[in-house]
Amino acid sequence: MQQERLLKVLVIGDLGVGKTSIIKRYVQQVFSQHYRATIGVDFALKVLNWDHQTVIRLQLWDIAGQERYGNMTRVYYREAVGALVVFDMTRESTFQAVLKWKVDLDCKVTLSDGRPVPAVLLANKCDQQSQGLRAGLPRLDTFSREHGFIGCYETSAKDNTNIDAAIMCLVDSIMASD
Ligand code: GDP
Ligand code: MG
Repeated sequence: MQQERLLKVLVIGDLGVGKTSIIKRYVQQVFSQHYRATIGVDFALKVLNWDHQTVIRLQLWDIAGQERYGNMTRVYYREAVGALVVFDMTRESTFQAVLKWKVDLDCKVTLSDGRPVPAVLLANKCDQQSQGLRAGLPRLDTFSREHGFIGCYETSAKDNTNIDAAIMCLVDSIMASD
């Protein structure tokens, strides 16, 4: 008998870091330079044949032009089982905002047993980042471990670098923990 699992995963981070592009790349295999702010809460669905018994319906929730407020409503976070926290490697202010997003997440949702929702850190636009900026960032593996992320990846939605790996890391962790 096959079982179906619905996983709600949030994609959070400041405006313009590439959240919508990451979701589009992962779900539709496309990338566009054209900038369009997301309006309204939106989610995309990817179906994964996980193993012989399990089909995963992965819902990736995109935020909705509400990034500017730096916090989201509890309703948006409700029943999430994982999160991707994204920043833009070319804009340090978006890295500074990462912890604010992580705190917002941890304050507003936990797993049903009270543990924090697993989160993966994505350093996006790695196709663009200059050496100068990289030098300004702390070691990301250390930083992410210290702040309770289960993993950290340099990604590019443009070049399709590490998007699958980052999402698989998260889904593996979600599936392993139940
Ligand atoms: P959001 O506001 O976080 O949803 O960001 P968007 O996905 O709308 O992306 C903002 C801008 O960054 C758009 O012009 C994208 O084309 C661009 N962008 C997103 N991801 C990447 C990337 O990995 N590399 C580069 N070079 N540009 C990207
Ligand atoms: Mg967007």
